[in-house]
Amino acid sequence: MQRLTILGSTGSIGANTLDVVARNPGKFEVVALTARSRVELLLEQCLRFRPNYAVLGDEAAAGRLQRELATAGSRTRVLCGADALVEVASLPEITTVMAAIVGIAGLRAAHAAALGGKRVLLANKEALVTAGGVFMSAVREHGAELLPIDSEHNAIFQSLPRGGRGGMVACGVRRILLTASGGPFRTTPLAQLAGVTPEQAVAHPNWSMGRKISVDSATMMNKGLEVIEARWLFDADPGMIEVVIHPQSVVHSLVEYQDGSVLAQLGNPDMRTPIAHALAYPQRIASGADFLELAAVGTLQFEPVDIGRFPCLRLAYEALRAGPSSVITLNAANEIAVEEFLQRRIAYLDIPRLIEDVLSRSASRQINDLEDVEEVDAEARMAAVRVAAGLKAVGVPS
Ligand code: NAD
Ligand code: MG
Repeated sequence: MQRLTILGSTGSIGANTLDVVARNPGKFEVVALTARSRVELLLEQCLRFRPNYAVLGDEAAAGRLQRELATAGSRTRVLCGADALVEVASLPEITTVMAAIVGIAGLRAAHAAALGGKRVLLANKEALVTAGGVFMSAVREHGAELLPIDSEHNAIFQSLPRGGRGGMVACGVRRILLTASGGPFRTTPLAQLAGVTPEQAVAHPNWSMGRKISVDSATMMNKGLEVIEARWLFDADPGMIEVVIHPQSVVHSLVEYQDGSVLAQLGNPDMRTPIAHALAYPQRIASGADFLELAAVGTLQFEPVDIGRFPCLRLAYEALRAGPSSVITLNAANEIAVEEFLQRRIAYLDIPRLIEDVLSRSASRQINDLEDVEEVDAEARMAAVRVAAGLKAVGVPS
């Protein structure tokens, strides 16, 4: 029996995780659930899955949840704040942590799970992007097991012998090919991109996801973050990691070997497949995803990325080459830019402008621990807010 903490249980990945758990009675016990602010949904989840702990972002929300739970006769204990996330991610009684908080906000708790030697199911790519070296050392030194949830990385993991343990060279790998759908604006005339709205940007053609990752998919910053994520997860040289556009999102990524073989993992675009894979690894369990009917899909297309259309992907490769502090800056500037765009305070095309501007002002420095990560992140956020204020003056399309 695996005993689970689900960080970010009210999000898209969190809810899909609970769906897979519910389909497999007797295999998993839910010990802790966490959310930032959605009291109603967390209450529903607590009544259904009966965790020992529930965590909310602030005291007012936690108090409300505790009262509602008490009225319903539940014994779930409600905690609040960032320290409580760390606490439930490293409880001695849990075996497994689903890290599904969005953004660098999830870093401390995901890192705590690694320090606790847990099986860490990593959806929260920003944690690995911003603290790759520190995070991977924690995994190695504390005997944690890191399993990727991101569909591309889960596909690569499945296409590598023993998940790539021993390194890419020993596995005979020549290239890792990350597939990208191209998002909602793959074929939109470039002249129209200036006026796209948050609603258009979050309407992904194949996947249903949280708002932040949906915007990242439109700009392809998501693929940039995934290149960096792959670098750390598989200890791969950035030069080995390539991106190819595949609009159907059926081939989730591929590994090319020295002998010319290319292995891939395919499936319908449904996050419950990688979630079920990682939850049950090395066994296989039902996920609820529809089975793939290749004849119904008909055609699988692949095309090169038009980097002029997706400057965020270029910025991510550049930051990866420049070093860890540039990557932290890239991520922080992107988190601010996406939020400003979603709040209609900057335009879509301002997202890469803002990130490039913040990157050009940042100095490179060494990163040794999470405090260093958080310092660089905080500085980059302040710079990004200042740049965003300047961009606002230029005006946003209505
Ligand atoms: P989401 O916005 O739907 O959910 C985010 C969750 O994190 C929610 O439960 C929210 O309450 C919690 N949260 C947000 N900010 C928080 C904070 N400051 N403190 C504590 N909790 C906070 O996001 P999602 O789409 O489920 O994505 C989660 C992570 O998984 C992201 O890192 C994303 O890149 C990654 N991911 C998602 C998908 C997908 O299909 N949704 C696919 C691959 C990777
Ligand atoms: Mg992905």
